[in-house]
Amino acid sequence: MTAEGKRACVIGAGFGGLALAIRLQAAGVATTLVEARDKPGGRAYHWQKDGFTFDAGPTVITDPACLRELWALTGHDMARDVELLPVSPFYRLNWPDGTTFDYSNDETHLRREIARLDPADLAGYEAFLDYSAAVYEEGYVKLGSVPFLDFAAMVKAAPPLVRHRAWRSVYDTVASYVGNDKLRQALSFHTLLVGGNPMTTSSIYALIHKLEKDGGVWWARGGTNRLVAGMLRHFERLGGEVRLHDPVVRIDTLGARATGVTTQSGWSGTFAAIASNADIMHSYRDLLGASARGKTMARRLAKKRFSPSLFVVHFGIEGSWPGIPHHMILFGPRYQGLLADIFDYGVLPADFSIYLHHPTVTDPSMAPAGKSTFYALIPVAHMGKLAIDWEQVGPLLESRILAEVERRLIPDLHDRIVTKFHYAPRDFALDLNAHLGSAFSLEPLLTQSAWFRAHNRDDVLHNVYLVGAGTHPGAGIPGVVASAKATAGLMLKDLAR
Ligand SMILES: Cc1cc2nc3c(=O)[nH]c(=O)nc-3n(C[C@H](O)[C@H](O)[C@H](O)COP(=O)(O)OP(=O)(O)OC[C@H]3O[C@@H](n4cnc5c(N)ncnc54)[C@H](O)[C@@H]3O)c2cc1C
Repeated sequence: MTAEGKRACVIGAGFGGLALAIRLQAAGVATTLVEARDKPGGRAYHWQKDGFTFDAGPTVITDPACLRELWALTGHDMARDVELLPVSPFYRLNWPDGTTFDYSNDETHLRREIARLDPADLAGYEAFLDYSAAVYEEGYVKLGSVPFLDFAAMVKAAPPLVRHRAWRSVYDTVASYVGNDKLRQALSFHTLLVGGNPMTTSSIYALIHKLEKDGGVWWARGGTNRLVAGMLRHFERLGGEVRLHDPVVRIDTLGARATGVTTQSGWSGTFAAIASNADIMHSYRDLLGASARGKTMARRLAKKRFSPSLFVVHFGIEGSWPGIPHHMILFGPRYQGLLADIFDYGVLPADFSIYLHHPTVTDPSMAPAGKSTFYALIPVAHMGKLAIDWEQVGPLLESRILAEVERRLIPDLHDRIVTKFHYAPRDFALDLNAHLGSAFSLEPLLTQSAWFRAHNRDDVLHNVYLVGAGTHPGAGIPGVVASAKATAGLMLKDLAR
């Protein structure tokens, strides 16, 4: 038997849902993709305002090979739908004392940058690179798209974890190789891009350094939204069916199987297999809430640690800024202390570190001629830790963040603003059904990774599957696209029975 001709439903058109839907449809499974919002993308939603294009979420595209594979499955070329442009430097890091550090995969340039911070750290950097390459091979290449369904799979993965001392944090590992405080920040901040605290996230995540070094950092012309649109177009080209703007309200079950889904509009369908790309807590507590399994899992998930949320200020301004690179981190005066405030204490600190996104420097089509698009993002504690009224605090925080960008980069920023708005934790909760307004789902701790993370196939409901940031391997585009590969493998095998 093959899976061909069977019917499957994917709930949610985030990167994970889209990648899974493409894989299923490419294998001949008649797939329906059901999305709650008016546009696909999930965290990668977008808005058009006053001629500016604002991407809501991901801006750093890494490992383009994992995306190209989705087209190559059926002999298509991704370049037909999406144009990827290289970004260099990958990031410019900037500290309050005026020090800058350009981070890229140009080894000669990178070594010069490291030597500028501290020449004594060059040898340590080389050794760190070797470490990063080794954990990349084990954690991403070998295990990234393997579903951890039973503890035996975890036991098999244990020797490399022990060999690489995966219980140590990324920061502690980096600090064991290099001594310069700024370089330690430069080589460890990446876990924040997947919702992890560099001080506690497993050193396995040091693999991101190698992932970026080998695969580069890319930008999709027209914005990340164009990549999303390209994936949707490709799915429809293969014959997939899409329902937008119609939230699923229930996954129906009978015994140990799911039978179908029902949406808010009253539409319903019966399927041989159902996968949810929606928030993991929402999937179990709300969509499967009528089943005993849904209730049990919701109780278990409530005890887990969820990643922080984000506060993002989008602004379109007059003028072009060729001197401001595409990706900048404006570090604040504190690193460890600030991270503890966000991840542990759940307070809104007086200081912050900002990630500044400036797409128009790579791609002027993101704004009207002579104008520029930006977003400034800070991590903030999720709503379970930080109970404040975002309606009230949002405008004040927006002003403080813009004032900091004005002070450090664009002196007359306020006079130049054409349009601006912000996106706060409660927007993640309301728009995306994100538990506690978390931006990245479950925190990527060792104790919440691989087998300890939500499984790609439910343990009890045999034809219910999960895909996306809450499952193995975790958040970030390469992560959720890898989770789709793991989940598709299981579904195709099960459907072929
Ligand atoms: C601001 C920001 C910046 C980021 N930057 C980067 C970056 O630069 N690079 C990177 O690699 N990663 C980045 N990330 C992380 C990355 O965007 C996410 O980890 C990834 O996109 C999550 O994909 P997902 O498959 O889990 O689905 P999600 O994006 O979470 O999508 C889930 C979808 O399910 C839908 N849904 C929810 N409930 C229902 C329902 N009941 N019925 C139907 N549909 C439903 C939602 O509307 C949504 O469309 C960033 C994230 C954020 C928030």
